[in-house]
Amino acid sequence: MSRPTSLRVLKFGGSSVGSAEALRRAAAIVREALPAGGLVVVSALRGTTDHILEACAAAGAGDLASAQTHLAALRERHREAATGLGLLDTVEAPWKPLLDRLDQLLTGMAMLGEATPRGRDAALAVGETLSAHLAAACFQGTFQDVREVLRTDGRFGKARPQLEALRAAAAPWREALAGGALWITQGFLGATAEGHTTTLGRGGSDTSATLLGEALEAEEVQIWTDVDGVLSADPSLVPEARPIPRMSLGEAEALSAFGAKVLHADSLAPVGRAGFRLVVANTLRPGASRTEILPAPPLRAAGEVTSVAYKEGISLLRFPAAAGLEAPLDAARRLEEAGALRFGLIASPAGTLLAIRPDTPAAAKALDALAASDLPCESGWAVVALVGEGLRTDPLAALRHLAALGQEPIGGLLTGSSTVSIAFLVPESRLGDLIPRLHDRCVTCSQEQP
Ligand code: ASP
Ligand code: MG
Repeated sequence: MSRPTSLRVLKFGGSSVGSAEALRRAAAIVREALPAGGLVVVSALRGTTDHILEACAAAGAGDLASAQTHLAALRERHREAATGLGLLDTVEAPWKPLLDRLDQLLTGMAMLGEATPRGRDAALAVGETLSAHLAAACFQGTFQDVREVLRTDGRFGKARPQLEALRAAAAPWREALAGGALWITQGFLGATAEGHTTTLGRGGSDTSATLLGEALEAEEVQIWTDVDGVLSADPSLVPEARPIPRMSLGEAEALSAFGAKVLHADSLAPVGRAGFRLVVANTLRPGASRTEILPAPPLRAAGEVTSVAYKEGISLLRFPAAAGLEAPLDAARRLEEAGALRFGLIASPAGTLLAIRPDTPAAAKALDALAASDLPCESGWAVVALVGEGLRTDPLAALRHLAALGQEPIGGLLTGSSTVSIAFLVPESRLGDLIPRLHDRCVTCSQEQP
């Protein structure tokens, strides 16, 4: 794909801008990565989003005093970071109307006795915007409001981007950035066509960065976080897990679908559409380990597995053959609407298995209701996935790895449409033993091809 500029977009998460010290580190990274300008997306300072949500909940419940306690803590925390950078005088002017607005929004919520999703998004925008002004001062760039370009629908709290409108609105940004500007903007926020503020869902600023990368025709988007890129396994179960230097988009998608927390699944779609390089790097060790996610897959040996992922808390529903497909499909739909994640729906002539993770109280309730209707339901399962481009050419390698580990009580194979992952169900109690052994067998011994 031809690109008019070699634009880079950098994104810093809440912990990477959480203190004066962290901001100083981020500034050094910006200087190094963007000597000729570019775009920087920043999250709210760590903990801010939770604070604002708690303040809204308190205000909505009529407790304005406690909402204002949260607001005071927020103001103090931000002032402390700005003071530590010697930038309090610079940011006080842009901050004042934002903090006043948050105060007014909370007062309004307390008067109404309700925090509406739209009001909450307006309040959350304050946290993101405070941080972007501070980062702009610290990185010596110019603040630009992302709501000028990041057009979304009106689903407050989990808005969906409107790609054509975003692309059209981004034209002046493309031009300015190609001319060498260094712009700092907010993550997580968008705006409807009417100009109402929306948010993309928790953890959404990675998605902001990749959506902006797409609209601005960037050649690279860098996500700066507090881990060493994407690891080959969860380090709490596998201490020798290591960063994967290069991986394909397909591998990254499979990993985030099956449990890896480092990348938000929504953030990967723009990479596939636009074909830029996505880099995940550690602010604490900028020169060390990082992962590059490439639109064209790196070479892998046949059968090579790059990582092992897992997700706990899965429940299995077993539908008898006589129930046909309607009943399981209907159950899956209802559970997903309530916020459950579906990990498998396997239909055979002998019956249908639905593997689901009830991630919200509403989903747990819907699951209880199904279980109460005499449907066999078991909790305490986990899904384990082997992920690697090598499985594309030799999918049976995954089964050989499993067989080599002996008689594992496998509850079902989940091979969906992805050709780079093979997943299966195991009782949760086996994870602690199985994951390190699988990692040891399939990942540790495989070497990346040049
Ligand atoms: N500040 C938002 C959150 O905490 C968005 C983000 O950090 O990605 O969810
Ligand atoms: Mg985040």
